[in-house]
Amino acid sequence: MKPTLLPTSIVGSMPKPTWLAQPETLWSPWNLRGEALSEGRQDALRIAVHEQTNRGIDIVSDGEQTRQHFVTTFIEHLSGVDFEKRETVRIRDRYDASVPTVVGAVSREKPVFVDDAKFLRQQTDQPIKWALPGPMTMIDTLYDGYYKSREKLAWEFAAVLNQEARDLEAAGVDIIQFDEPAFNVFFDEMKDWGIATLERAAEGLRAETAVHICYGYGITANNDWKATLGSEWRQYEESFPLLQQSTIDIVSLECHNSRVPLDLIELIRGKKVMLGAIDVANETIETPEEVADTLRRALRFVDSDKLVPSTNCGMAPFSRDVAFEKLSALSAGTSIVREELAAAKP
Ligand SMILES: [Zn+2]
Repeated sequence: MKPTLLPTSIVGSMPKPTWLAQPETLWSPWNLRGEALSEGRQDALRIAVHEQTNRGIDIVSDGEQTRQHFVTTFIEHLSGVDFEKRETVRIRDRYDASVPTVVGAVSREKPVFVDDAKFLRQQTDQPIKWALPGPMTMIDTLYDGYYKSREKLAWEFAAVLNQEARDLEAAGVDIIQFDEPAFNVFFDEMKDWGIATLERAAEGLRAETAVHICYGYGITANNDWKATLGSEWRQYEESFPLLQQSTIDIVSLECHNSRVPLDLIELIRGKKVMLGAIDVANETIETPEEVADTLRRALRFVDSDKLVPSTNCGMAPFSRDVAFEKLSALSAGTSIVREELAAAKP
């Protein structure tokens, strides 16, 4: 089968139905309990898949319908972390939060997302993608009272993530994505051991691997931080040359309406690029032509067989209508460019 040119994808989250969780909130509590919650989460996942496939998304995600938070939900399932014992720490150097404490050796007693991934696999024949937090972003949301070393804890988490990733692969996941927004902040640590621990998390996988690096959404502290970054956001300049040399197959970055200079994409030449052509900070629905324009400009720095049109980040903070319309816009804009590329071929 010929692979789809410019296969569309989303970074991860979609809004949850109001009957499942309070809408337009990042850390929203569940509205259901027990068996009803398990059923509700599966039904929500089914809807997320249905909307993606109906609206022309080629690489399908679970929409993160079964988890509350992209980092915490994974950590909640590990042993060695005490969620009752909380300390206040600074997250991504940006804001203070009360976080759980690492009190012993961290380990994964049993798979975390694997049943959900199997369920997703049953819902579609399209390629599927599953997101996990990256090691560096995980350590940044905890107080470590045991290892007393960010690097040591990151290596431990990388081993745990690798176990989960291998199980997800066995469950039929085609692309395993690690979310590492911390790569846009802690450049020294990223160079010293951040990329190495990410590669450890992805070690030995046959599935494709992706890393998502964004500027953060949904909370005021992220918006305030971005306001200090000036007219050009060049943070990717730090990570991209290292990722270009790494074992990771796909790099997911934000683009549309952000201040990221497009020519930075040249730094990951040879890798697949999941390009954010949909703004997740603004409810205005992109026109297909706007999406097409973003893709055309990116194609100067990435080969067409390596471009994966996507969103800038998760869409959890939107209403469902807005998120669904944005999926349609992404597909429609991508179709325009696919036709142009087909017409340009001799
Ligand atoms: Zn993101």
